[in-house]
This record gives sequence, structure tokens and C-alpha cells, in this order.
Amino acid sequence: MFSKDDLLFKKKLDSLINKHLPEDWQEYPDETLDNHWELSKKIKKSLSEKKWIAPSWPIEYGGLDKSFTQSIILSETMSYRMAPGNDRFGVRMIGPTLLKYGTDFQKEKYLKRLAAGLNIGAFSLSEPQSGSDASNMITTAIKDGNNYILNGTKNWVTNGINSDLVLVFAVTKKGIGHKGISCFIVEKGLSGFECGKAENKLGIRASDTCELYFDNVKISKENRIGQEGEGFKIALSTLDGGRIGIASQALGIATASLNHSIKYSKEREQFGKPIANNQSIQFKIADMAMELEAARLLTWKAAWLKDHHKNFSALASMAKVYASEVAMRASTQCVQIHGGYGYIRETGVERLMRDAKITQIYEGTSEIQRVVIARSLL
Ligand SMILES: Cc1cc2nc3c(=O)[nH]c(=O)nc-3n(C[C@H](O)[C@H](O)[C@H](O)COP(=O)(O)OP(=O)(O)OC[C@H]3O[C@@H](n4cnc5c(N)ncnc54)[C@H](O)[C@@H]3O)c2cc1C
Repeated sequence: MFSKDDLLFKKKLDSLINKHLPEDWQEYPDETLDNHWELSKKIKKSLSEKKWIAPSWPIEYGGLDKSFTQSIILSETMSYRMAPGNDRFGVRMIGPTLLKYGTDFQKEKYLKRLAAGLNIGAFSLSEPQSGSDASNMITTAIKDGNNYILNGTKNWVTNGINSDLVLVFAVTKKGIGHKGISCFIVEKGLSGFECGKAENKLGIRASDTCELYFDNVKISKENRIGQEGEGFKIALSTLDGGRIGIASQALGIATASLNHSIKYSKEREQFGKPIANNQSIQFKIADMAMELEAARLLTWKAAWLKDHHKNFSALASMAKVYASEVAMRASTQCVQIHGGYGYIRETGVERLMRDAKITQIYEGTSEIQRVVIARSLL
């Protein structure tokens, strides 16, 4: 499913990222969060010089007009080393939304800076009372002449603290459910817009997640994306593509789990022989490799469908559920294969298990993905 161009991109990307984060990076403990951030800044700089932060975006907006598949390759390659993957670059969700629904003015103003790595974007749909049931949001954006006045609290915003721009979904017309939701691009620094503290998370600790507070924040109507009432449709459409991104993030974690398991099981000796000589270890590794291949094909197929403008929504959900479950199983087995050494921070593999968990939760939990898949079939 990969074109020659995609494969060449993968090779070049690997070699560039390897300069900053060599293979054995996984063996570093993740205590040094600041170090992760410094590293991801350096990687971002190198990638932006080659226009590889958003390779699938049009050339006029700072991309290379390449396939969507190349952004999936970027996500997997980054996540192999550092699980928030390309989330730290803050383009994955905001870019596709602006490209599909933004005005020329909005595209011109925001996309180039995002693709050049000069701005970081965030996507803010969830609220404390509305997670899976996202349309049950209560944040409001009430029209006031040429402006909207935004009030409410959002939570779980990836890059909330470090971002410059946030896509915010809010109710513009009450009482009509998801048809009353609209989407806005909100710049940091507006009066009444505050961020909460960074959440102390189980995994993906190299990206920040926080609450956002809006207290009578005035947003120009030029910052509304799409028509009034189109917000929920926009959110769902962005999430469809985003889910293939999460699947590829899970592939990166699962691949790292497999490679560490192979390496350690050949090195570690017990009862006078490498533990890899035991069939029970071999079967674990065989299962990991087999499931990883299946997950990768599913993810690539979803990306291929998207690249070929075919309906990919159910496949994106299948890829996300399956790849995230594979990553969770592979990383858990990887810790098991490392025995006690797998359970301590110094060895680094426990981080894979902690990082894998989020892929089953954000951008729609595994349960919600199954709802999407079943709906498409029934
Ligand atoms: C680290 C992190 C980063 C995040 N980043 C972002 C972000 O950038 N932007 C953003 O908008 N959100 C973000 N989220 C939010 C994330 O998308 C939500 O946490 C997720 O959608 C689940 O919502 P919830 O946590 O409210 O759980 P709930 O919706 O309360 O679900 C709780 C449990 O019930 C299950 N459940 C709910 N409804 C059903 C149903 N109908 N059928 C079966 N089971 C069901 C769920 O699957 C889950 O197991 C992030 C979350 C985390 C933890």
C-alpha cells in the first residue's frame, strides 16, 4: 500500500530522527520530562527545515503535497521513540480542520506558521461532564455583533499549555443538541482565556494536557470555522482522520515493545541459556509480531482509503481499536519478558506500557470505536 515515495520518505525520516533519538533512546528513563521537550524541539526544527512536520499539506501552506500516508509514517516513526509522537508538533488535528473547513484568510494566517513549527495547535472538544458524549458540552459562544463571547471549561487538552492556537467547540444555539455546536480558532493571550495546571499523567508524559478556562473571551466572527451549527460535524470529520494517527502511534509503541523483547530475550540468560530458548517466550514474541503485522495492514488500509478519497471512517475506528489493543498487549508482554527489570524505570520498557494505555482512551475510547464500527455495519 506504500508508494515508492512513501517508502523513501520513511527511510529518510528514520535516519533524521535517529540523529536526535537513537534506537537505544527507549532505554532512558522518562523522568526527565524537560529533556523530552528539549529533544522534541530539536527534532521539530530539523523536520520543519525539510517541511516534514506536515508533509501531506499543500505546498502553498507549508507542506509538500504528499500522501496522508506520509503523516502516518511520521506518527509511527516518532512514536517508536517517544510516544506522544508528533502530537508535540501540534498540527495533527488543527491542520486537517483548517484545510477542509477554514477560509482562505484562516488558512493563510495559521497553516504556514504551524507547518513551519513556529506555532503549536490544540484541539479542544472534551469537557468535564462530556467525554464520549461530546455533544453534551455546555461551553457557550454567544453572538454579540461581529463577535462571539466564549464562556466555559474544557478539559484534557493535549498541548493546552504549550499551544499558541486552540480549536474550541462551543454551543452557539442551545436546545438543539449537536446541531447547535460551532467551531472557533482561539488564539492564546486573549483576555479571560486561562490554562490550568499540567495533569500528572500515567503516560505520554512528554506532552502536556490541561484544562482551559474561558471567562467572557471575545472572539471575532472571522475566527469561526465553517458555518454556525457545523461544529460537531467538523469535530467528527477531524476525529476520523485523527484515529488513523492514533493507530499509527500505537504501531510505534508496539514495534518498540517487540524489538526490546527480541533483544532482551536473546541477552538474558536463566537456567544456563538465553530465555529466548524457551518456547513460552518465543510464542509471546511470535504473537506480538503477528498482531503487529495485522494492525499495521489495517492502519495502512485506512490511510490508503483516505488518500484515495474513499469512505474510511469504519476502517479508521477498526485500526484504532485493534492497533491500540495490540500496543497494550505487546507492551505488557515486553515488561513480562524483562521480568523484574521490566518493572523499574531505569530499564525504560515500563514506559511503553504506560504510553500504550492512552491509545485506547483518547480520540474516542475502544468502546466508542466499536459503537462506530457496529453502526457502520448495522
Ligand atoms: C491524556 C489525554 C489527552 C487528551 N487529549 C484530548 C484533546 O486534546 N482534546 C480533547 O478534546 N479531548 C482530549 N482527551 C479526552 C478524551 O478524548 C476523553 O477522555 C475520551 O473521549 C473519554 O471521555 P471521558 O474521559 O469523559 O470518559 P467517559 O466518556 O466518561 O467514559 C468512561 C467509560 O465509559 C465508557 N463508555 C462511555 N459511553 C459508552 C457507551 N455509549 N457505550 C459503551 N461504553 C461507553 C467509555 O468507553 C469509558 O470506558 C484526552 C484525554 C486524555 C486522558
